[in-house]
Amino acid sequence: MESTARERLNAEMAEEQERLRYLKGFFQGESMPDMLDDAMHMESVRFAGTLADRSARRLSALRKLSSGGAVEERFCEDCGERIPLSRILAAPECVRCRDCQALRDGESVTPKDAED
Ligand SMILES: [Zn+2]
Repeated sequence: MESTARERLNAEMAEEQERLRYLKGFFQGESMPDMLDDAMHMESVRFAGTLADRSARRLSALRKLSSGGAVEERFCEDCGERIPLSRILAAPECVRCRDCQALRDGESVTPKDAED
């Protein structure tokens, strides 16, 4: 089902591209109604800037993924499990499965064995 993975990746890239274009519109003030006052405008532009940076990073990671050959073959650095495509698309730079990443981040850590 490699074509399906490829199609999903292409769809994600198109979506991210569209989001980035929309966010960049804020800097030209095109999508900014006149009724907003300056403070709100500045706040919105700053927020859009943060989102645009994130969007651009994800888009470039997706492009790298797209040019890198196999889209769906990636294995967790820690446990060796295959990382689901949905996670790769959501976080193209991830090297761990969701569980292992959560452990690394210190979220909901469940101790497996008591230390000797
Ligand atoms: Zn893992």
